Amino acid sequence: MTQAHYRTLSSWLKQIFGEPVRKISIDVGLGCPNRVSSPGCIYCNPRGSGTGAHANGLTVSEQVARGIEFLSHRYGCQKFIAYFQSYTNTYGPPELLESLYREALADQRIVGLSIGTRPDCVPDAVLDMIVEIRKEKLVWIEYGLQSAHAWTLARINRGHDPEAFFDAVRRTRSRDIPVVAHLILGLPGESVQDMVTTARAVSAAGVNGVKLHPLYIIKGTELENMLQKGTYAPLTEEDAIDMTLSVIQALSPEIVVHRLTSDPHRDELVAPLWMLDKRGVRSRLEQALRSRDIRQGTTWGRASLVDEEQTAPLQLHTIDAADQSRKW
Ligand code: SF4
Repeated sequence: MTQAHYRTLSSWLKQIFGEPVRKISIDVGLGCPNRVSSPGCIYCNPRGSGTGAHANGLTVSEQVARGIEFLSHRYGCQKFIAYFQSYTNTYGPPELLESLYREALADQRIVGLSIGTRPDCVPDAVLDMIVEIRKEKLVWIEYGLQSAHAWTLARINRGHDPEAFFDAVRRTRSRDIPVVAHLILGLPGESVQDMVTTARAVSAAGVNGVKLHPLYIIKGTELENMLQKGTYAPLTEEDAIDMTLSVIQALSPEIVVHRLTSDPHRDELVAPLWMLDKRGVRSRLEQALRSRDIRQGTTWGRASLVDEEQTAPLQLHTIDAADQSRKW
């Protein structure tokens, strides 16, 4: 049983709500501060991971209604999380953000919110507003980190340093708002050990969940230019699986794993093309977990947290003992 190898989001949600819960992607077109004065992250295209629903004129309520209709027909589920996915979903005044979040929650079948954003775009006033919603519904914030290494963040043009992430995690967890960290495997210049160090660093910081996916190249990005110039080579499926297994082992066993793969748009993907076979990749990943008997957390806590390419240990950002319960 793969579920015994790591903590899955689906089983965790089922524990809380007693039935399957599905996520509905919401696109409110808030834009991204990293795309204002720069081209943005090297793997980002102008759509910013969006569904295009906002550009097509759909309101939040309409996106919720369409999502519920589609998912309830397909999976027979009756409870949903509204996932504010595209761009930076805390990039705006708290009053505007609150109205968007509450519009999604107006349908009683929406049992929670997931808010995707950048760690350098969460002022305390926004967190204070989210705390009030959190008193009524399940809410978590998803922060893009991708790597805990400053040199990698500079290389991929993230526009923030690791400290911005750890500061955002501290301020968010101190308000008892759960945090999910986004990590990308196979970023330019990173070794497996670098990715393992990042997994340990986010575990030590006390995040509640993690999303992982191998890096992929989409059209119209700086990463596509790097591919054409030969300065970046796409991951093989075998390497991506090996990286994923190493990172799972390095994560704290308390962390809920929200995702291990990704689902790039067929029309936009340049490489690696094996990622289009999402079901096959998932199946081979699960097979590798079983055959190698990989368990989440088996290398967490006992290995050194020293970043081997640095002369000094990677700075640890541990949470207070009171937060160790990782209460959702
Ligand atoms: S933070 Fe997200 S939306 Fe902004 S540039 Fe990076 S990938 Fe694109």
